[in-house]
Amino acid sequence: MFETLSDRLTSVFSSLRSKGRLSDADIDATCREIRIALLEADVALAVVKDFVARIKERARGAEVSQALNPAQQVVKIVNDELIEILGGETRRLRYAKTPPTVVMLAGLQGSGKTTLAGKLAKWLRDQGHAPLLVACDLQRPNAVQQLSVMAERAEVAVFAPEPGNGVGDPVAVARQSIEHARRQQHDVVIVDTAGRLGIDQELMRQAADIRDAISPDEVLFVVDAMIGQDAVSTAQAFMDGVGFDGVVLTKLDGDARGGAALSVRHVTGRPIMFASTGEKLADFDAFHPDRMAGRILDMGDILTLIEQAQKTFDEQEAAKMAEKLVSGDGFTLDDFLEQMMMVRKMGPIKNLLGMMPGMGQMRDQLNQVDDRDLDRIAAIIRSMTPGERQEPKLINGSRRARIAKGSGVTVTEVSGLVVRFFEAQKMMKRMSQGMGIPGMPGGRN
Ligand code: GDP
Repeated sequence: MFETLSDRLTSVFSSLRSKGRLSDADIDATCREIRIALLEADVALAVVKDFVARIKERARGAEVSQALNPAQQVVKIVNDELIEILGGETRRLRYAKTPPTVVMLAGLQGSGKTTLAGKLAKWLRDQGHAPLLVACDLQRPNAVQQLSVMAERAEVAVFAPEPGNGVGDPVAVARQSIEHARRQQHDVVIVDTAGRLGIDQELMRQAADIRDAISPDEVLFVVDAMIGQDAVSTAQAFMDGVGFDGVVLTKLDGDARGGAALSVRHVTGRPIMFASTGEKLADFDAFHPDRMAGRILDMGDILTLIEQAQKTFDEQEAAKMAEKLVSGDGFTLDDFLEQMMMVRKMGPIKNLLGMMPGMGQMRDQLNQVDDRDLDRIAAIIRSMTPGERQEPKLINGSRRARIAKGSGVTVTEVSGLVVRFFEAQKMMKRMSQGMGIPGMPGGRN
């Protein structure tokens, strides 16, 4: 996501790097470039105008810092303004004082609403809530079934109309679901409503009726980020027809430009609260404007990376591994495999590396990183005997041939892995002996 914008902005900044001081002409030229970058990223014109005007005003103003060079100052201003336009502070879900908290989802068909319902339910469950998913999309064939599948995957309860009991009346289903949630002690109710392919009055009326019947604590408007500028007009139509408290952007993984994300808050006055970045339930998180701005400007998103690591590993596992690494003793191929699998659990390597600062510059190389490479390495190690994994020196020519055959790779690949492992082992030893990593500050070269 945001690759196009990120690339453009980074190149604007790099052309400023050599300047000792920025003249008004420099600032004008930079603002022109930023304007083009935003328009190319499909950001709504009104938003672009506002954004660029603010950058210009601040860059020309007296904000001259001794600590930052001109390029850094511009980056800082753009960063501040990006955070602002993305909504400023993170807007968290508001829970009702007396449960259940009722969250209603609205949006077009295909926006990813049902998928999102499952993701949100899982996210809430992971935080100790007991959500109930409610199927109020009674128009689209299979919608109820699809939501039930989602609920099953998210391991949460679902409420769907019983035959003869309010079938065909989404308002009645919504109302009953709240009662049901109270009885069953669900503290959050997520109501999935019907979407249409386009905006129509009937759709809006139905959503508004459901809203009036259940008085949700939060109405979330779900919108596909890939529809670009249309996201803004759709949001406006829903704002007028139903009204909503927050926005959920879906399919951010498929949107290289990011125009929707940068426009929707400014145009509707409602914050982006969550973002969806893939088809899997885990591809979902609360939306943090500051972190997103950091990613756009290629400053990395270390906070999200750390949180993902914390979510994925249990502490004991991590402590055990850290101890091995520090002692440098007996680091075997089994440990190597275990370590690799831990990283693998955190999600696609490309996404993880993409969150490191400066990685935006290496996008081409990143795109070549293939998770299947890791799977191949794992397959090779698994084809070794326990003895070989403990003592890789045993792995001679004939053993390599056997391992290659067992794991379906070439002998060269097996040899490459063994050599890399020895290097890693050597490095661990040096680190544990306090010599630092070669090539790193403080390390020996
Ligand atoms: P609904 O009609 O609004 O309920 O939309 P669905 O939840 O059925 O989603 C429509 C399609 O988009 C499905 O194929 C989903 O798998 C897919 N989808 C949903 N969210 C995402 C996302 O964040 N990223 C990607 N790549 N696909 C998504």
